[in-house]
Formats: sequence, C-alpha cells, structure tokens
Amino acid sequence: MTSEDSPDEETPAERKMRFLFQLRSRGVTDPRVLAAMERIDRGVFVRGQFADRAYDDTPLPIPCGQTISQPSVVGLMTQALAVGARDTVLEIGTGSGYQAAVLAGLSRRVYTVDRHRRLVQEAEVIFRQLNISNITAQVADGSRGLPDQAPFDRILVTAAAEDPPGPLLAQLKIGGIMVVPVGQSDAVQTLIRVTRTEGGFDYDELRQVRFVPLVEGLGQT
Ligand code: SAH
Repeated sequence: MTSEDSPDEETPAERKMRFLFQLRSRGVTDPRVLAAMERIDRGVFVRGQFADRAYDDTPLPIPCGQTISQPSVVGLMTQALAVGARDTVLEIGTGSGYQAAVLAGLSRRVYTVDRHRRLVQEAEVIFRQLNISNITAQVADGSRGLPDQAPFDRILVTAAAEDPPGPLLAQLKIGGIMVVPVGQSDAVQTLIRVTRTEGGFDYDELRQVRFVPLVEGLGQT
C-alpha cells in the first residue's frame, strides 16, 4: 500500500463520506438522522489509542470500562425512536455523550444520565465545546428514570436490561416511545421498541444487539 492509499491520508471530507456511506449501507436511511449524525463529529468523543478508529463502524472502549456504541447502532436506535423537534428525550447511559449529542440535534431537550460521575463530567465538557445547550447531563441511577423531569416523549436506554425497567415505562407519555436492549448482559440481546398507548404498551422486536449491562446504583468513579 502506498502512502496515498493509506486511510491515514483520507481528507476530513472523504472520512465523512465513508462514515455516512457505512451508516446507509447498514440501514440508517432517515434523512434527519443522517443529517444529525453528519453534524456531530464522533472523533471528538473518542480519545487516546482508539482515536484513529473513530470513523469505523465499531464500538470502542471509553473510560470506566464502558463503550461508545457502534455508529450504525446509534443511527438505527435513533431512527427507531422517531424523535420529533418538540420532544423531550431521556437517555439512560451517557457514556461518551455521543448518542446524546445526536439526539440533541433532533429534539427540544435531552436529559441524559450515567452512574459514572467521570463520564458525565467529560461529556459535559464536550457539549460545551460543541456549543450544544439543550442537553442536561446528570449522575443518577437510570434504572429509576428521572422522576423530577418525567414524563418523557422518548426514552432511549443504551445499556442492556433484563426487562424494560418499570420506572421507565411509568415515565413514558401516552403515545411515547422507548427503545431498549433487553436480555442477559453477557449474551446477545434484543433491541425492542415499546410504544405507550391509552390502554397499555405495544412491543416490537427490532434486531439483535450487544450492550454493556444496566447496573443498579451509582459507580465508584
Ligand atoms: N450512549 C453512550 C454509550 C453508553 S455505554 C454513548 O453514546 O457513548 C452504557 C452506559 O450506561 C455506560 O456509560 C454505563 O456507565 C451506563 N449505565 C449502566 N447502568 C446504568 C444505570 N443504572 N444508570 C445510569 N447509567 C448506567
């Protein structure tokens, strides 16, 4: 391979085109979601030894033993959530802050919580750098939701639960949508979409995914 063929030599514009092409080829087709993901540079959320892989369609390690999700999974989950410009969204699992930043471009306000203080603080620094002002990040046990701000139009859970947590179902508006990976934490999980109706909840199975577990209680760091 000559230096001209090397991915290191990719221009930012080429890198962005490759990133968006990967998303489309994996089923992210909603133009609003693609535009929101085009605006948020994933490279800002991945630091250290994995920074050069930020534009690959792969999950990557972040501090506190957690992971930033695969871009196509971020896109497919965001698409399944069908977020509207007036919606208030709750995200459980801030992690790097990338998913919250994508959601912020599509909604009125995003509340995002993580059990690790370090992750919340680092994500807040990035939101400020990017001039994103409609995200509220908070250290909290997301398995209990965020009762003070409830109810929500949309809830996105980015860690796997055995079942959709009851407090989150209770904090969803009627007509609201929640997307959550369910299943045993060490196995392949199923991404499901829960829609709250007047009479109860409708469940759709979307696809197989693999997420870190939703852990009750706050982290040590
Ligand atoms: N959405 C993130 C990726 C999340 S990884 C991103 O875009 O980068 C899953 C995150 O869920 C981890 O950061 C983990 O700390 C968090 N988490 C796990 N259990 C939790 C809980 N009960 N409450 C809040 N956050 C939790």
